Amino acid sequence: AAKKDGGNHVVVYNEEINKEKNEKLRIEKRLRKAIANEEIEVYYQPKIDAKSDQLRGVEALLRWTDEELGFVPPDKFISIAEETGLIHPLWKIAMKQACSQISIWNSQRNEPIRLAVNFSAKQFQDPCSLVNQVKDILAEHQLAPNLFEVEITESTLLFKTTETIKALKSLQEYGISVSIDDFGTGYSSLSYLKTLPINCLKIDRSFIQDITEDNRNAEIPLTIINLARSLHLDVVAEGVEENHQKEFLVQNQCNYMQGFFFSKPLSKDDFEKNWL
Ligand code: C2E
Ligand code: MG
Ligand code: MG
Ligand code: MG
Repeated sequence: AAKKDGGNHVVVYNEEINKEKNEKLRIEKRLRKAIANEEIEVYYQPKIDAKSDQLRGVEALLRWTDEELGFVPPDKFISIAEETGLIHPLWKIAMKQACSQISIWNSQRNEPIRLAVNFSAKQFQDPCSLVNQVKDILAEHQLAPNLFEVEITESTLLFKTTETIKALKSLQEYGISVSIDDFGTGYSSLSYLKTLPINCLKIDRSFIQDITEDNRNAEIPLTIINLARSLHLDVVAEGVEENHQKEFLVQNQCNYMQGFFFSKPLSKDDFEKNWL
């Protein structure tokens, strides 16, 4: 009986794996089509300057709704794109749409909006060409490099380290700033912060959401803010949802804030209606 149970278990397990594989293949197929037809849209989430309470910039976040699959969240399609080599064409869509949009918005304002784009670790496999493509796209859309930010996670720094660091250095020398996304959730040692070309830490939203009304559980955000300050880095809080979290961050001199309290990521039209 035990053997039989074990056997059944294996069958169920294989079916699970097959189901997952098929789903991934289906998403990959639809994603290829969506990329070819540019059915993927950039949404913009405001980043707020804590001192002035004003809009400082936006983060570009991809949104994809497929005819067959419906809305597919980025956490799902980005990892599939990374596994299948589709991340680079996706990134190009994000870059071109966002740069051209920001450049239009900035031509209509006195205070320019900064643009942050997420880069995946996989893209640093050919760092030289990556840097050149970034420069070309910015130039094509007349977006000043000092208005552009690259967001990478700590895992990017663990991957292909020397090449990645070289690429980040040349981006930085060109005037672009580099932010560590989801900071505090990675496994890398802190020593890299002193030596790597980094401008900004983005405190992961799990730490911000832990901050209660009476400021319990605020030790980690506070520690990251102080760490950033002593290393002369900027610091952004992600996932600010409540007023008391905002108050805490302002009081403790976090530089910038982002989260549903201020705004969800918005389509171009909604962003124009609400923020311009
Ligand atoms: P991320 O770069 O850390 O982006 C922040 C995520 O947190 C976004 O999810 C955003 O909608 C969400 N968020 C912002 N404020 C709040 C809040 O107050 N509460 C909560 N619960 N969530 C908040 P989204 O858009 O689903 O993106 C998820 C992840 O997918 C991103 O995390 C990023 O890692 C990846 N991603 C999205 N677009 C791109 C892209 O163009 N390229 C790459 N490589 N990755 C992307
Ligand atoms: Mg990000
Ligand atoms: Mg993040
Ligand atoms: Mg994330």
